[in-house]
Amino acid sequence: MKTLRLILGDQLNSKHSWYKTNDKNVVYCLFEMRQETDYVTHHIQKIIGFFAAMRAFSSHLKANNFKVDYYKLDDKDNTQDLVENLKQLIKKHEIEKFQYQLPDEYRVDQQLSEFCESLDIESEAFSTEHFYTERNDLKDFFKGKKQYLMENFYRDMRKKHDILMAGKQPEGGKWNYDKSNRNKWKGEHQIPTYKYFKNDVSDIVELLENSDIKTIGKFDTKTFSYPITRAQALDQLKYFCEELLIHFGDYQDAMHTDEVYLFHSRLSFAMNIKLISAKNIVDTVLNYWRKHGDNIDISQVEGFIRQIIGWREYMRGMYWALMPDYKTENHLENTNKLPEFYWTGNTKMNCLKNTITNSLDNGYAHHIQRLMVTGNFALLAQINPDDVDAWYLGIYVDALEWVQLPNTRGMSQFADGGKIATKPYVSSGSYINKMSNYCDNCYYDKKEKLGEKACPFNSLYWNFLDDKRSILGNNRRMGMMYSLLDKMDKHQLVNIKKRAQSIIENPDNF
Ligand code: FAD
Ligand code: SF4
Repeated sequence: MKTLRLILGDQLNSKHSWYKTNDKNVVYCLFEMRQETDYVTHHIQKIIGFFAAMRAFSSHLKANNFKVDYYKLDDKDNTQDLVENLKQLIKKHEIEKFQYQLPDEYRVDQQLSEFCESLDIESEAFSTEHFYTERNDLKDFFKGKKQYLMENFYRDMRKKHDILMAGKQPEGGKWNYDKSNRNKWKGEHQIPTYKYFKNDVSDIVELLENSDIKTIGKFDTKTFSYPITRAQALDQLKYFCEELLIHFGDYQDAMHTDEVYLFHSRLSFAMNIKLISAKNIVDTVLNYWRKHGDNIDISQVEGFIRQIIGWREYMRGMYWALMPDYKTENHLENTNKLPEFYWTGNTKMNCLKNTITNSLDNGYAHHIQRLMVTGNFALLAQINPDDVDAWYLGIYVDALEWVQLPNTRGMSQFADGGKIATKPYVSSGSYINKMSNYCDNCYYDKKEKLGEKACPFNSLYWNFLDDKRSILGNNRRMGMMYSLLDKMDKHQLVNIKKRAQSIIENPDNF
């Protein structure tokens, strides 16, 4: 039967069972489309990375004699719309059956479901064969429970997949080594040179230059440094095991002005476009550790595995459990506009300047920078979560809605009222100082709450607690903070709130 199989830009899984046999009646298709480049303002490196990886995947399939119809952005037949392109190919090849892999984004899932309903030929959806869990597994796991705690899900995953287990007990005696993942990096362990790939993407750069696609961020090198093929992803993973795993857990939360990646893996882009599966990553890391890891503590390995089988699978499950309503939740009723410096990095706050500049330069920031610097400031300044989402969805090369949205709206902005995080992730300047060297050369004084040079995070923090008392005052995990607020001199609080207000009103110039 003449079949058309759609491969979306984030479904580049060469190990998928689709490719186990080569049926001459099957045509595969991939499209570079304005539909995807324009739904949010993306980082230029993100678009380049997606197109480069899609082109490499198409070449790989063609080299293995699969029949592929690939539409480049400027191909004359390209309608720039997924459904219209599919209709065109169904007609062109006289297709009798349409098949696709389940999209991870709600938006595309809806579009394809509606398309299939409108078709007068047969259609069929397949798993992407990338994740440990299926879309609705987490929803089923938490059925009837009041709280969707990641830790419960994570432990279940460890048991179910027999990962880091000694019989029924966690290997090493503990489920979680989070407490040993909180060191500040002071240069004591040299960070190895990063593994950069030199993917020549000059043709894509030229294509974008000749289009009117709006992008953010920088791209100076003309070579794309993240993996775009499975071989490169495996190479990056090998490098992570050999060079970075040894201190991954120790410095997972650390930040430093001289280091963009520290001991982080830089694997999120490769994983999210499915060059490599979650299981592949976990198995490789565990095998490496068992064979060569005498000097690698279990806390480093557990810290990494938790991110993949815990947080990543959990976020995806939450997304599918809570969409589409999740996308509009605004529990804290925040309505302020995102400051202009998020798009430029032009601010005197050194932590924000550094994190945003790294993000603009590399399409990258690690978890704590996203959570406790840019996310923390946005929440304290009471920014509308729609604005915050749009920024996070655009700026990072790894940003896809299924993982960005629960991390941003839930974990970072508490806009879901605590479905993901049990309390808002907010802090004054002291946390940032504890985990980084940002405050050392900052224009502001990390210790001061008042005065022109006082760290903005300090007044914003107390102002936030005071403003949100009616919503957060009963949260047991916030009890200590509210009792400190209650003990604060009333006159001082008035002044702190005045300063916070002036920062909120004019965050770029105060
Ligand atoms: P490492 O630190 O080396 O971690 C290894 C892997 O664990 C990552 O590659 C990632 O796949 C996974 N991981 C770690 N933390 C998380 C998490 N919280 N949720 C899901 N997976 C996780 N990650 C994305 O992939 N896309 C996003 O759009 C995204 N947006 C985020 C927004 C906010 C506000 C926050 C706080 C976090 C976000 N994350 C997102 C999670 C995390 O920041 C990135 O996965 C990580 O920084 C990617 O860099 P790395 O590959 O070097 O990660
Ligand atoms: Fe950021 Fe405040 Fe530290 Fe400056 S002093 S780097 S604004 S936390």
